[in-house]
Amino acid sequence: MRTGRDLELVAVTKRYGTTVAVNAVSHLFIEGSYVCLLGPSGCGKSSTLRMIAGHETVTEGAIILAGKDIAQLPPARRGTAMMFQSYALFPHLTVRDNVAFSLKMKGIDKAERHREADQLLDLVGMTALADRLPAQLSGGQQQRAALARALITKPQVLLLDEPLSALDPFLRIHMRAELKKLQRELGITFIHVTHGQDEALALADEIVVMNNAVIEQAGPAREVFNAPKTAFVARFIGGHNVLALPQGRFAVRADEVRLAQDGAEAVVTSVEYQGAHVALNGRMAGNQEILALIPEADFFADPKSPGDSVRLSWRADRAHPLEA
Ligand code: ADP
Repeated sequence: MRTGRDLELVAVTKRYGTTVAVNAVSHLFIEGSYVCLLGPSGCGKSSTLRMIAGHETVTEGAIILAGKDIAQLPPARRGTAMMFQSYALFPHLTVRDNVAFSLKMKGIDKAERHREADQLLDLVGMTALADRLPAQLSGGQQQRAALARALITKPQVLLLDEPLSALDPFLRIHMRAELKKLQRELGITFIHVTHGQDEALALADEIVVMNNAVIEQAGPAREVFNAPKTAFVARFIGGHNVLALPQGRFAVRADEVRLAQDGAEAVVTSVEYQGAHVALNGRMAGNQEILALIPEADFFADPKSPGDSVRLSWRADRAHPLEA
């Protein structure tokens, strides 16, 4: 639901010389939502985020937060805060002084800024490590310190640029759950840039898929996954077949494709056991590849091998037509 404190991009364009990094993008970010900007490298995600933060100038367009155009304001006066991929902690300052840094810049006295920093360190579970230097922290701890430092400015919108990419896979999954929990507790808008579809699906209330400097599709995570509008979104979000049959071009989820008595003819090209599913790849008429993720018990009731002729089907209402 729209509130008076949403963030709105209105025809925002970013050009670097002749490169159009962001092309007249408009989008409403609902207050209090967790939004992931998802897309391949170079599609304009970071430029969009940096323009919202004020770390990059806006070539054209408006950025409205709580009813006010913030596009020309300095970063510290926008009501936004940014957490960088590298965390950008000051190496010679303790965790507490890193977190308190922006308050020091504002001239707030030491006792008060340490009190506020300690509250945030408590929020991110870092109280015991407040006197350490960044080099004495693990990757996950550095990230918590960077989060606390961004949050001390009491932003209405927290901007996170690939915040999990520096972490190993195990920690990444742990920290993404913490980010989500923190966002729920704080109730502020998080805008999180990622090129990982799993990460976006796990975190986002809304996924904004970007491609070639524009928004290709935006919507709730389940909607984007279940009903991709374009071939690009279907391929990028993963788990889908993009097929062109005489009746038109469409996407169908790989786990909706079943071995059947009738349906599209295919020759099995590979079979891979994946635990819960068996991944069966086939080739259909017109040399089109198709992937079926078949529940393992169903598959082993009537197993297939490469070279076998099979018929594959799916429920008609699970095939989503794609825009050109
Ligand atoms: P993403 O975050 O999706 O990888 P970016 O916003 O970083 O995409 O980049 C979008 C496009 O703008 C790319 O073509 C990139 O090369 C270009 N670009 C980004 N930053 C600059 C810059 N400072 N100068 C020139 N071109 C840039």
